[in-house]
Amino acid sequence: MSIEQDVSDLVKILALKNAVEHDGKAQAESVISKLLGSRPDKRGTIKTLIPEIRAIVQSINLMPLSDQKSLLDKMAPEETAKKPVEETGVRLPPLEGAVMGQVVTRFPPEPNGYPHIGHAKAAIIDEEYARMYQGKLILRFDDTNPLKEKLEYYDAIKEGLDWLGVKPDIVKNTSDDISLIQQYGRKLVELDGAYVCTCSQETMHDLRAKGVACECRRDPSEALTRLEKLFNGSYEQNQAIIRFKGDMADLNTAMRDPALFRIIEGQHPKLGSKIRVWPTYDFAAPIEDSLDGVTHAMRTKEYELRNALYFAILDRLDLRKPTMIEFSRLEFEGVPVSKRKIRPLIDDGTIKDWDDPRLPTLSAFRRRGFVPEAIRKFVISLGITLAETKPPFEALEAYNRKIIDPLSMRLFFVKDPVELYVQEAADLDVVLKNHPTDTALGSRTVKASDRFYVSGDDAAGLKINDEIRLIELYNVKITRIECQEGKLSLTATPAGSEIKQSMPKIQWVSKQDIFDLRVLIPKQLYVGEQYNTNSLEVVKGVAESFVSGFKPGQVVQFVRFGFCRIDGNNTAIFTHR
Ligand code: ATP
Ligand code: MG
Repeated sequence: MSIEQDVSDLVKILALKNAVEHDGKAQAESVISKLLGSRPDKRGTIKTLIPEIRAIVQSINLMPLSDQKSLLDKMAPEETAKKPVEETGVRLPPLEGAVMGQVVTRFPPEPNGYPHIGHAKAAIIDEEYARMYQGKLILRFDDTNPLKEKLEYYDAIKEGLDWLGVKPDIVKNTSDDISLIQQYGRKLVELDGAYVCTCSQETMHDLRAKGVACECRRDPSEALTRLEKLFNGSYEQNQAIIRFKGDMADLNTAMRDPALFRIIEGQHPKLGSKIRVWPTYDFAAPIEDSLDGVTHAMRTKEYELRNALYFAILDRLDLRKPTMIEFSRLEFEGVPVSKRKIRPLIDDGTIKDWDDPRLPTLSAFRRRGFVPEAIRKFVISLGITLAETKPPFEALEAYNRKIIDPLSMRLFFVKDPVELYVQEAADLDVVLKNHPTDTALGSRTVKASDRFYVSGDDAAGLKINDEIRLIELYNVKITRIECQEGKLSLTATPAGSEIKQSMPKIQWVSKQDIFDLRVLIPKQLYVGEQYNTNSLEVVKGVAESFVSGFKPGQVVQFVRFGFCRIDGNNTAIFTHR
């Protein structure tokens, strides 16, 4: 029996992968078991394929390792692209029921705000699985509420994903399919799986609580007439909705006849005022997932109770059902990771922009100096557990630090500067390395004379006769400490250049070489349920003039202060320690 093209390609990829992981020698057994893992449909005929699989493995084992790597890169670029993540040992677990080449996932944001790190979690997991199984990722804007959605937000979400390096294979809008979704809604009413309800909200609220069906549900004679009226514009907003025919006494309240369509008058960013009858998320999501060919629909745990409804809708319409997978919402202590909570802060002016460094939006992370690779690693390290515990923000910082540390110049910045006069110090051109180990980052020359600035914190801890080391320069001995009108100043004399363990080693800026710099330090937005009025600390100081040449976006490490990203206008934003 001859092997089919897709199977033989898969065998080649698996063999190349196995070879690259094992010094160029793949093992046929391992390739066969991996093949069966992703193509269980081949179990019955595997015996007949074994000779060809062995032949493929043998031919690959004859290639030099470098050729194996480049061929793997050509045949399955995502495999090699995933490398950096594998190196750290963090990987997502296999996806239940996934078949190689046939996985379709989707990320369905509502364009009602800017994307945040919670979206990054969902989108990255969706993408990682699509790539892991050589499948497809769909970006689907879930835009079925014209009152909340704006073109600006579609763009912001695209930009955010772009920055993250999430590359959807297909981009679409739920609103593209609005007619189709309406047709399914009508069909569900015709099939007696839903009904048009004209009860007031209060009536329904009461009946729901009591677990009793309303008149509209009990008397089906009017159902189709009402359906026509709903779609031909005879009802006003709030006068009629389509409800799922669930069970008003169900213990799962999500099944107590939830709304599937409602009338919304508004300007939709893509469809204008053409459409009045809009599906709810509960209806649009299963229909779209099914029609889009989604095999694995992932969403956050808070939708758990609505899974029954999701599947009941597909059941009644006899549509294909995806596998549903849930993971926990990403939240950090004191930071609301939700558009619903962020937007009010923007609307009431508490926070001016979506990229304010205190926010967990992607644009804010970018502005703070976080790199997308760190966010991806962090998200993958969280995995798809349902754990409710909030991960420590420091975990994300650690991933970021590891990536930016080797790339960032080490420079001097002093906060709350205090003048230091070193008597009889010579004028010097001091050459400073930009990075302790990476010479490719070059060096800089600073003109030093007898006047310096050191940071207020360091100065406050000094006493007469203390010896300190000015980093990369020389030692000085403090001879006088003055405080005039609340302003501290120090005088010192040179004290050799031998570095002693016991000396405090502090950074400095030469008085003739300064660049005024303000650093914004974001803190927790909330303390408990209260907005933290001290959530943005503004630190003033001076940096070396070398910093003046940096463009916004440059990330640096200020020695003994922390990593910062230059933001422009003599301002930097604190990334982390
Ligand atoms: P928000 O409260 O921010 O509006 P949402 O769930 O309504 O949250 P959507 O735009 O509808 O936001 O979400 C798109 C996808 O992103 C959904 O699958 C949702 O589960 C996921 N998602 C949203 N917030 C988080 C989060 N904090 N952690 C993990 N996933 C999230
Ligand atoms: Mg939403």
